[in-house]
Amino acid sequence: MIFRQRLCQSYWHCRKIVGATLDGFEFPARHGCTMTDPAEKITLDQWDDRYRDLCRGGLREADYGGPLGRHVEAHGDRRLLRLRMDNSAAALRLWNLLLSEEDRLHRARAEGKFLLGTMKDLGTVPVMAYALEGVLAFYPDGAWWTPCLMEHSEGLLALADRLGIDDSFCPVRAMLAALVDENHFPVPDTLVCSVGATCDDVAAIAQRIDELGFPVFWWEIPHRRAADSGEPSVELPGGVRAPVAQVEFVRGELDRVRRHLEERTGQSLDDARLAAGIRRANQVRRLLARLRHFAYQGDPSPMPALEMMIAEVLSIHYCSDWAETLSVLEDLLAEVRRRLVAGMGHGPAGAARVFWVNPPADLRAMNLLEECGGRICGTDYMIAHAIDLIPEDVPPLVALARAALADPMVCSTADRAERIVREAGTSAAEAVVVSRIPGASHCASESLLVGRIVARRLGLPVVDIEIPPVLDAMEPTIRARLEALVETVLARRNA
Ligand code: SF4
Repeated sequence: MIFRQRLCQSYWHCRKIVGATLDGFEFPARHGCTMTDPAEKITLDQWDDRYRDLCRGGLREADYGGPLGRHVEAHGDRRLLRLRMDNSAAALRLWNLLLSEEDRLHRARAEGKFLLGTMKDLGTVPVMAYALEGVLAFYPDGAWWTPCLMEHSEGLLALADRLGIDDSFCPVRAMLAALVDENHFPVPDTLVCSVGATCDDVAAIAQRIDELGFPVFWWEIPHRRAADSGEPSVELPGGVRAPVAQVEFVRGELDRVRRHLEERTGQSLDDARLAAGIRRANQVRRLLARLRHFAYQGDPSPMPALEMMIAEVLSIHYCSDWAETLSVLEDLLAEVRRRLVAGMGHGPAGAARVFWVNPPADLRAMNLLEECGGRICGTDYMIAHAIDLIPEDVPPLVALARAALADPMVCSTADRAERIVREAGTSAAEAVVVSRIPGASHCASESLLVGRIVARRLGLPVVDIEIPPVLDAMEPTIRARLEALVETVLARRNA
């Protein structure tokens, strides 16, 4: 990362920063005295005072803004009481966007908007849906974080048990219970689910959803394979390749999804509209790429792992609000740049650089990593294909098919590990954490395979840690393992 400060030239004695460039990006010139708010992680109680201070300073918010404490009182999001959150206005906006989604979906339903529940594809079908007027797409799968946020007080996993989906499945089974109890998101006007090379959990749970009277429109995503000798292949977003025949197959499947959406919404979803939807998605993805670059390469770390994980997840369906997602990402980027210019961040400079694989079922895991002396320098939260740019120089359905086939969960674990190796290498990772998800069927021996490949290619230490939706009972063990990993990193630096 190349960082150049420009110092004030007005007075010979003045050494204030009035501008800077970071990897070629120009920062707004301003007299450095405004860059004084320290970067801190604070509790929910501390956020009450911080919120009042920000309001006194002229905070402007979206209509669903407000103090974070109300999410505990109104929605029972008790996990917030155990988290440490970034103290910036940008982080406040991010949390409010995330935690207000169910309310906004209910409001959209009352306003007569069309609600699409899309399952498993993580980043493809919403691009199509948001190309239409008055349509919101969201992931019922997102309910997998509800038992964490509400610390099991909502009873979703117990209800899933009673519906025949027990804890041999991963926490995504919460979506089945949330659809049935109707206490969370509204029942969508249509449900769309990708199956084929997806995990058994979602396939089985979505079948049960269909069986219980919530009809599902299925589309197939094949297992991505290498092209046979002499078979034409094409590069996908993220630099992997797939046979042209597979791209053509997925294009046909997405064309069925397109026609289904047209039929259900009564609107035409032609190529011009789809291309506009792709451009909109790429606006989000470009911003996110810059944010990840600065947040993961800046030292000390300018934005905590927790807020960055949520920011990454916005890419899959914009948390049901594309415009606000753009604004939130712009604010986070501005805050990260402000901190880098001012030399501020979370934790000490030189913290152990960790590449994190898979989203943890408990958000608190990201706090724990930093409490143990680590920081995130790169990630694979299973949504790499929702972060890569979608091609804009081919017909839109072909572009979306290529993006869908770039999903790191539709190929072999060895293929996925190759990308992890590449990105861990370029992000100067010093260790890799594979966060295992209880009951997840997507790969029983994932950590073994990733560990072997990373160790062979990069020689980095790898740990796999199972993280349940509420990790409190496991915290001493998880903490000990993360501390040991950080100690290993520091010892290797001095070896
Ligand atoms: S965590 Fe794994 S098993 Fe669970 S829904 Fe996601 S891909 Fe499927």
